[in-house]
Amino acid sequence: MNLEKSDAAFIRAKKLMPGGVNSPVRSFSNVDCTPPFISHAKGSHIFDIDGNDYVDYVGSWGPMILGHAHEQVVDALKKAVERGTSYGAPTELETRLAEIVQKIYPSMEVMRMVNSGTEATMSALRVARGFTGRDKIVKFIGCYHGHSDSLLVNAGSGAATFGEPSSPGVTENIAQDTIALPYNDIAAVEKIFAECGEKIACVIVEPIAGNMGLVLPENNFLPALREVTKKYGALLIFDEVMCGFRNNVQAQKPDLTCLGKVIGGGLPCACYGGKAEIMRNVSPDGKIYQAGTLSGNPLAMTAGIETLQILIDTPNFIENLNAKTSKLVEGLKNIFCANAQVPQAGSMFSIFFTNKKVTNYADATAANQEKFKRWFIKMLERGIYLAPSQFETLFVSAAHTDADIEKTLAAAKIACKELL
Ligand SMILES: *Cc1c(COP(=O)(O)O)cnc(C)c1O
Repeated sequence: MNLEKSDAAFIRAKKLMPGGVNSPVRSFSNVDCTPPFISHAKGSHIFDIDGNDYVDYVGSWGPMILGHAHEQVVDALKKAVERGTSYGAPTELETRLAEIVQKIYPSMEVMRMVNSGTEATMSALRVARGFTGRDKIVKFIGCYHGHSDSLLVNAGSGAATFGEPSSPGVTENIAQDTIALPYNDIAAVEKIFAECGEKIACVIVEPIAGNMGLVLPENNFLPALREVTKKYGALLIFDEVMCGFRNNVQAQKPDLTCLGKVIGGGLPCACYGGKAEIMRNVSPDGKIYQAGTLSGNPLAMTAGIETLQILIDTPNFIENLNAKTSKLVEGLKNIFCANAQVPQAGSMFSIFFTNKKVTNYADATAANQEKFKRWFIKMLERGIYLAPSQFETLFVSAAHTDADIEKTLAAAKIACKELL
């Protein structure tokens, strides 16, 4: 694998940006490898400036559920860009996207579009605190909800990868209001509510956790969260920025839901919303302030509308995508047997090098990260582009072909022989 041009590009980038990147995990520093600098992407493949061609399972960290540069999305964007890129005034596009979102998420009676998942969760917290008049929040260790101060306490994703799950710069006062508990540990949640439930504004949770690798909720976890929050008058916030649209986990009827990634079809867009009686407190209907110069941007709305419309209009879209993912995951399980865990949720999956089931962040960190590093490099060398950390989730898109999956499994077979 030749990365000569990427090496040179990386040196230039590092002079100007921390780690040479605009989001930490992209630096590949944790796998001791130059990140391929990307020139373009199409369907399930991503290409770097040295001409390497990879099967892509990062999918821009989740949004690219249709694959890259989907013709229909690109055509709609070309037309949209001719009409101007931003107005700072209402458009029908925003209502159209909101209507589509509500069809899929009926619990989101009233919603607001924002630009990133970070903004969505940060705003949802403000709404929860404003609505309940309480300060404290409960989150789960290893869940990542973006990088706002209150939520950057015991966080997953890049924060876990770089060993700083809580960031310097988050003040003691702010951190004090964030209670972080182990994922899947309902006894810990009940205990904290018994102690100070009347001070807790909300519980925020990834209903399928994807930022400590993929960790599924145990059977009673989400129903129990619904029950305890209801009992104490706290709000339940589902952060579905990653798992949303790919999975349906709304059976518990959360009070607020945060969406991102897929909703923008690869452009900057996210959304938070929920019960009308709560969301009507957001400015200008109510006093809880939240705003955005580029929120509801016409290009982002267009990419979101086209992407979600294809998802809705294509018969068995999700079933087929999930079946394809299962084929890959079953193949990986057969190759690694007891040496690795390959959890799957719909079109999301990840790999932990451990023989023990992973149910929380402590289990995830106990998996063999050295082995992960070697696995990652071996796969990259064979043209398979994975996330460079075991604390991330991988995504299959509608554009992945049987040939892609066969190529991936063939590479995994060789990698496994060299690893074990
Ligand atoms: C990615 C992610 C976020 C943050 O979204 P950004 O758009 O990166 O700010 C929040 N919550 C979850 C669950 C995520 O996966």
